[in-house]
Amino acid sequence: MKLWVKILIGFALGAVVGLIVGPSIAVVKPLGDLFIRLIKMLIVPMVFCSLVVGASSIGDLRKLGRVGGKTIIYFLATTAIAITLAIIFAIIFNPAGGYVLKEVGTYEAKAMPKVADVILNMVPTNPISAMATDNMLQIIVFALFVGISISLIGEKGKPALDFFDSVAEIMYRIVGMVMNFAPIGVFALIAWVVGTAGAEVLLPLARVIFVVYFVNILHAVVVYSGAVRIFAGMSPVQFFKGFFEATMVAFSTCSSSATLPISMRLAQENLGVPKEIASFVQPLGATINMDGTAIYQGVCAVFIANVFGITLGFPQYIMIIVAATLASIGTAGVPGAGMIMLSLVLETVGLPLEGILLVAGIDRILDMIRTSMNVTGDAAGAVVIAASEGELIRVTPGVGVGS
Ligand code: ASP
Repeated sequence: MKLWVKILIGFALGAVVGLIVGPSIAVVKPLGDLFIRLIKMLIVPMVFCSLVVGASSIGDLRKLGRVGGKTIIYFLATTAIAITLAIIFAIIFNPAGGYVLKEVGTYEAKAMPKVADVILNMVPTNPISAMATDNMLQIIVFALFVGISISLIGEKGKPALDFFDSVAEIMYRIVGMVMNFAPIGVFALIAWVVGTAGAEVLLPLARVIFVVYFVNILHAVVVYSGAVRIFAGMSPVQFFKGFFEATMVAFSTCSSSATLPISMRLAQENLGVPKEIASFVQPLGATINMDGTAIYQGVCAVFIANVFGITLGFPQYIMIIVAATLASIGTAGVPGAGMIMLSLVLETVGLPLEGILLVAGIDRILDMIRTSMNVTGDAAGAVVIAASEGELIRVTPGVGVGS
């Protein structure tokens, strides 16, 4: 049986068992946590080593600059489209539906970071502490410097390059082992979510869930399908099928970072993205490109405004688009991070922060789909960038790379 079929069975069984058993299913959660820990163990060494190798193999600086520029433009454009769709459909479906909030507690806001601070914070003052604290953006910046310098010093850099290359291969191999445990991990996590979330979710929240899922799936079907078809000549079916395991892992772990090792492996093996592109575009994407999170923030901003009886005008919608783009860039690829950054969007537009408490209860359910789209968007980006560089390897479905 194929691994993704097993994962799907684990998922379906988890949902059913969670529903039947209820909150006491929480006893299986450690199995899910174990799976997440196993993957997390690999992230820092894998991202760092593969990015060093990627940056050094891209070699000449002009090419790295070109790939970097294209990647960032692609990421920003797809994110802006994502939020625009989110706002349009949040207006059409109106998830609040006349529901008006009474009193809620208070919520600690996240201050809007200054642009200068954002840029300064990308540069680690101590690369080791960046690694020790999982600061992905800082790790990426340092890895780029190391990789580029390896290629600049030529022969002398060779032993270091071989070393990083070898460590990256070892990490990929461990990912393969860990994935065999995925069906059980997914089962446990889904059973836990379904078992503990309960059935008393209010109707407006159910509609928020519907709109967030609807727009995420629409974005994938229209924008990602379109992008891989138009820019890379790849069939969308092949794209989604080849990447399905990562989508499921993201769905159940709610973490782009934790899914990264699997996403990178699948993009190379099933989608034909060469290693140097995958190891640049995907870690960067897992850090700054979060279309699913942006969609969630757009829908929630409109929902919260409605629930508090606030009418939004065109300038406010534009502000939501800009703020949610920034917020999604600043969102870490870990569970629940998007909800914290939602405060940035609400703050910018002047919406009540209390609204966050309202959607907090369903955050896990929303996090599942937004994380799935976050990682899928990165993979679509990797395919598009690889194709634009003329480096996409044609993959025969079911056979794999190189045939
Ligand atoms: N959990 C999401 C991710 O890892 C981030 C978010 O909370 O929106 O991609």
